[in-house]
Amino acid sequence: MSKLKLHWQMLIAIVAAVIVGLWSGTDSAFWGVSLYDIFDFIGTLFLNALKMIIVPLVMSSIIVGVAGLGNNDNLGRLSTKTLSFYMLTSMLSITVGLILVNLLMPGVIDGEAAGSRLNLSSPDAVSEQLARVEGRGAGDITGVFLRMVPPNIVKAASDGQMLGLIFFSLLFGVFMTRITKVYSQTMLNFWFGVYETMMAVTLFIMKFAPIGVFGLVAKTVAATGFDAFEPLLIFFITVVLALAVHVFVSLSAILWVAGVNPLQHYRAMLPALLTAFSTASSSGTLPVTIECVEKNAGVSNRTSSFVLPLGATINMDGTALYECVAAMFIAQAYGLDLSLATQFTIVLVALLTSIGVAGIPAASLVAITVILGVIGLPLEGIGMLLVTDRILDMLRTSVNVFSDSCGAVVIARSEGEDGVLARNA
Ligand code: ASP
Repeated sequence: MSKLKLHWQMLIAIVAAVIVGLWSGTDSAFWGVSLYDIFDFIGTLFLNALKMIIVPLVMSSIIVGVAGLGNNDNLGRLSTKTLSFYMLTSMLSITVGLILVNLLMPGVIDGEAAGSRLNLSSPDAVSEQLARVEGRGAGDITGVFLRMVPPNIVKAASDGQMLGLIFFSLLFGVFMTRITKVYSQTMLNFWFGVYETMMAVTLFIMKFAPIGVFGLVAKTVAATGFDAFEPLLIFFITVVLALAVHVFVSLSAILWVAGVNPLQHYRAMLPALLTAFSTASSSGTLPVTIECVEKNAGVSNRTSSFVLPLGATINMDGTALYECVAAMFIAQAYGLDLSLATQFTIVLVALLTSIGVAGIPAASLVAITVILGVIGLPLEGIGMLLVTDRILDMLRTSVNVFSDSCGAVVIARSEGEDGVLARNA
């Protein structure tokens, strides 16, 4: 087993987890211990291990990366490129979602709004779910800026407020190079050491990825099974199709134009994509994303340390697409005839909220309540989404991570980095 490449081990673990999860359900027990609890334990342990290294990894990688950028011009240029790339791909993904949801009309069955058939779930279930995801971001755009400058960096780090951590690390990296040479050199050596150590720890944790992934996926499948998806099949298909078009057409075309071979890039990113799929958390996947982008895709630490942590926080193509399709679906199910202006509002709010959404499981649900509120639909509609949310979360998180990695290679190439996967190589 250990001779097999990591992504194969993870794939086998996922298939095995689906089979075992379907077979066990939530009630089976092994020597009196619930299998579901065992899956939960294994999965949570793996996810905790990944989360454990995020703060030191993000801090050290940004500080080392920014210090290596040299002057402010480089930093300014890199920020402009990164933000433009992320806005462009998010807009593209929302557009794909909007077109498909208008074509396939998942909220309308046999010419009738599907609301009554779909038996909108009870407000209790919805508020329970929302209470669980409360405080996971999404809010308004001023909130994003306030989180960027947290009053207490230690608390921001412990709360998983990545934007604050990123901003602080950027400042640290910039000013670290401006102090007296002896001190700045000591600082640089120290942070470089932290960074290298954290990468080594990531590699070590990833050795356990097949087991962790097994636990996470088996738990999900055991809890949901597949039956519940049936009534929502068209909605499910619309989202999956739109995500696939975004990855295999839009993002692949961008890679191609930038001179990167999309097939090679998929292969390079496979461990990160599978981790994103099983954890449904792009923040949790960040250590693996950095590892794959640097080691497999050949992007320098200087670029990846800037582009990837920022991407894991603000660039969520899959999430933006999902928010748009879900809000349109609910509107259709309620029999609402959506004007172009309303659709435009949905697009805009989906774009803005996807920036604020945290890279953790089910975070989109909060953003969708914001959209529903803006267009005046009852929040109860969210209940329909709960059934398919986890599986779609796994898929959209993989797309979020993939888009970040595309940003890293495209920007690395535009910076003239030679080592990046080239189309003609
Ligand atoms: N789970 C997603 C992520 O971590 C966010 C979401 O769409 O809920 O990227």
